[in-house]
Amino acid sequence: MGAVSSGGKTLDQIPVTAIKGVGASLSAKLAKIGLLSVQDILLHLPLRYMDRTRITPIGALQPNVNAVLEAEVRACDVVFGKRRSLVCKVQDGTGTITLRFYHFNTAQKQRLVNGTRLRIFGETRRGASGLEMYHPEYDELDSAAPLPLEQSLTPIYPATEGLTQPRLRSLAVQALTWLDKHALKELLPEVVRRQLNQVPLAEALRYLHQPPTSANIQQLMDGEHPYQQRLAFEELLAHHLSLLLLRRETQADGAYRLNLHTRLQQGFLAQLGFSLTRAQSRVVNEIADDLAKPIPMLRLVQGDVGSGKTVVAALAALAAVASGKQAAIMAPTEILAEQHRLNFGKWLEPLGIKLGWLTGKLKVAERRTQLAAIASGDAQVVVGTHALFQEAVSFADLGLIVIDEQHRFGVHQRLSLSEKGTNSDEQHRAGMLRPHQLIMTATPIPRTLAMSAYADLDCSVIDELPPGRTPITTVVISDNRREEVIERVRLACEQGRQAYWVCTLIEESEALEAQAAEATAANLIESLPHLRIGLIHGRLKPAEKEAVMAAFKANTLDLLVATTVIEVGVDVPNASLMIIENPERLGLAQLHQLRGRVGRGSAASHCVLLYGSPLSQNGRERLRVMRESSDGFYIAEQDLQLRGPGEVLGTRQTGEMQFKIADLQRDGHLLPVVKDAALLLMSDYPQLCEQLVLRWLGQNQRYLQV
Ligand code: ADP
Ligand code: MG
Repeated sequence: MGAVSSGGKTLDQIPVTAIKGVGASLSAKLAKIGLLSVQDILLHLPLRYMDRTRITPIGALQPNVNAVLEAEVRACDVVFGKRRSLVCKVQDGTGTITLRFYHFNTAQKQRLVNGTRLRIFGETRRGASGLEMYHPEYDELDSAAPLPLEQSLTPIYPATEGLTQPRLRSLAVQALTWLDKHALKELLPEVVRRQLNQVPLAEALRYLHQPPTSANIQQLMDGEHPYQQRLAFEELLAHHLSLLLLRRETQADGAYRLNLHTRLQQGFLAQLGFSLTRAQSRVVNEIADDLAKPIPMLRLVQGDVGSGKTVVAALAALAAVASGKQAAIMAPTEILAEQHRLNFGKWLEPLGIKLGWLTGKLKVAERRTQLAAIASGDAQVVVGTHALFQEAVSFADLGLIVIDEQHRFGVHQRLSLSEKGTNSDEQHRAGMLRPHQLIMTATPIPRTLAMSAYADLDCSVIDELPPGRTPITTVVISDNRREEVIERVRLACEQGRQAYWVCTLIEESEALEAQAAEATAANLIESLPHLRIGLIHGRLKPAEKEAVMAAFKANTLDLLVATTVIEVGVDVPNASLMIIENPERLGLAQLHQLRGRVGRGSAASHCVLLYGSPLSQNGRERLRVMRESSDGFYIAEQDLQLRGPGEVLGTRQTGEMQFKIADLQRDGHLLPVVKDAALLLMSDYPQLCEQLVLRWLGQNQRYLQV
């Protein structure tokens, strides 16, 4: 390892521009996908591999495979179909295949004359004229100068616009040569590696960028090669450490001790009208223990829909108020925030506690009043939406943050609200106290996911529903039986029950969704003239939404036509029938949430999944899960299998929990070892922790700079 040219630098310190041919424009493109250093290039691992090491006879080809062919051009014509294309038939001794190009130029056509021999690489498809390849790569063969075949499997890299595979391949090849000259620091301590029987990092990287022809390609494609597993382990470890570091950082600041006064608590419980379930009491105690400590609480409460999380949150808020501090309750939607405001008002105002209220849709004057009350401390418990995050919001003395339905908020938002308690006075940052955090979710998170996504949190589970609930019966019906379903709504409502009719759209456009709901409502009003029908969607003004919800709650509406705005939290116990149109468009967790709007009272509840036919195989499978189970944990596990972790955690768009190589489903079995290794590193190798996080989370990590 004679590091001559760039001194003793390690590969993370050498910018991509040090690689020959990487100028400003290419490095900008690389930066877009987070590749800044030579080390980043090395860690940008292939997604898949292709075998270009041998030639397949055309006669032996199957559809949908990648293959190298050697064949002779038999015909080549421009065809004017729906789109102009260049169609070229080629033949070897065993068969014929059609090559199709939609983008081509005259020179290209002129060279593909009869008798030209080609080496072709592409993916086969079943086409109109038998097997075809669209836009294959090809080279002309010259018998005088034979073209060598590839010596190793060809990697396919995750790409982005403007970065071609050949470009990425050549970058990787060059980066690998740096590996000979410069150290790629081994960040896994010997003890950890020995325990896992793991190869050195450099060796794994060499192999994965250029697997030998003897490699087990299937194993590599499945990501189950020991070298991939070695990297996946390191990556999972880095993610885990980033969360533990975040936790340590947050907890280094200290917090107010909050105590739940017995008398206040008794007053609160006495007016509730029900007693807490055993699970609720247990969780309240766990929270109370945390709050009484001078360390910021970081606790996740998981409880299925209807398990009664709101009361638990209210008791935590009560502890803050009893200790002279403010509590902020944040909900993911306006409707849910409004409902919390009503509940908290009903429960807390009789005890003399003042409520604040903040959402994005407040009028200017009202907003000013609320901000002032929050800043002065007059508002003791503040309920709101993510508007609570905004810069302008400054709390007098925030002691507790409750985030409801956390599956809709990312880690970053969690952080930024926790900064609220500390950013009010920059000078005091040093010895500043942080608010406690309570995070609630009704989306039971599969164990493996929870372990990695919420490694920074302690966990409580409300694993019991309040007594007297009857299970919801779910049926799956095709929308060509819509009339029957409408009839069913009529019968239920005439018997004094209430129903929801939920409209879904694929695109998350509030405007389109609102339109669809309006149209459905109009139709239903026509079909059911005797029913009192209301409509709610995200486009309504807050006051309008509130009025509709209040009417439905007061049973002056029989049927509520709604968009998925009612997905979380909405609580109307007398509603016992729900129709969900096009349920196949939604994820299972979301369906489970929606369905949880019924089954809240003592009447037997029903949910009709009114699907648009025909249904895909996957769609049918998902609706079957809904019909057969009402267990949130089971549904979440199935969702994970059918849709993958990004969708389940709702982080696909935000890019959180996106791994370079690890796959939570495939590599979940590594997590227990990852967890132990993370604790070991935190205690015995602190300097390695930060380096690991930097290596794998790089620019994306916000955790070290809290
Ligand atoms: P979620 O966990 O879905 O947020 P909620 O807090 O909205 O559930 O509670 C659902 C319903 O159950 C509400 O009407 C609430 O008042 C009621 N509830 C909560 N706890 C109990 C209990 N221990 N006994 C009876 N009803 C309860
Ligand atoms: Mg709730």
